[in-house]
Amino acid sequence: RRVEHAKTDKVVELARTIELARSGNRAAAIQLVQTNEGKAYMDGLRQDLGELLNEWRERRKVATQDAHRRLVFGSAALVAIAVLVCCLMGYTVYVQRRAFARVHAYSNMLDQQAAQDTLTGLPNRRRLLSAIDALSGNEAESRRIALLYLDIDGFKKVNDAMGHSAGDVLLRRLAESLRAATRQSDMLARVGGDEFVLLATDCGDDAQLRELAERLVSGVRAIGDKEYGGRFAIGVSIGIATFPDRVQSIAGLLDVADAAMYAAKRSGRSTYSFGSSPAAGLSNVIKLTR
Ligand code: GH3
Ligand code: MG
Repeated sequence: RRVEHAKTDKVVELARTIELARSGNRAAAIQLVQTNEGKAYMDGLRQDLGELLNEWRERRKVATQDAHRRLVFGSAALVAIAVLVCCLMGYTVYVQRRAFARVHAYSNMLDQQAAQDTLTGLPNRRRLLSAIDALSGNEAESRRIALLYLDIDGFKKVNDAMGHSAGDVLLRRLAESLRAATRQSDMLARVGGDEFVLLATDCGDDAQLRELAERLVSGVRAIGDKEYGGRFAIGVSIGIATFPDRVQSIAGLLDVADAAMYAAKRSGRSTYSFGSSPAAGLSNVIKLTR
């Protein structure tokens, strides 16, 4: 408003001066100019306009700073949100991986338990059958395979005389002894109450198998002699089937060895017997003497 007034006053002063000059009164016009009234208006105008300009500049500076602050704050907030989202995603992935690893470990443990005999820790019948299945898939490439079916002789007497848990302890000792007498690469499984199966891939010739069977028999006898002061005549009858000479399919090994084990039992126990597929001939029984 001050600028507006000063402008009006200046224009009026100028108009007065021009009017005086036009009307021929130049001296009065010069006198009016010399009063410096117009200059005072212009000085006031310049000062007021300068102040206005400074004020606007100041406002613009503040507004720019404010915009800059908002920009920095907004960017920082965006970065923080992005970091938070990344952290959350990372944490989710970590939690999921941990959960999957647990599920995986748990399912492995269940698999293992399902394939393990709880009393002796040996593989069970299920695990043995899948090993036989796996070997059957590669019959053409397989080397000589032997399957030994073992049934402990006179085990029930221990159970009846000493109780089931004493029988369990004896079963565990027998399993340890059998395991110790065999190669790590061979699979020793417990397939029933007092029945074990040894699956020996790349088993060597018959002489080696006889040696193995005799080792197993004498190992079990030694346990029988040691436990309960030799009160129980513990032995083991073993049926042996070999692929591909005596049995032509790997899947047939178990039945042939089982039948050969019964033949060994019939021939006096604590013995081993080689069995063959029915077409290939009769079983060959060899009796061991104590
Ligand atoms: P054989 O000489 O003819 O082999 O007879 P055996 O006395 O060894 O008895 P058999 O093989 O006919 O039967 C095995 C017994 O083992 C039958 C069962 O009572 C017992 N048995 C089965 N499972 C277990 C077990 O987990 N623990 C114990 N302690 N005994 C078992
Ligand atoms: Mg038995």
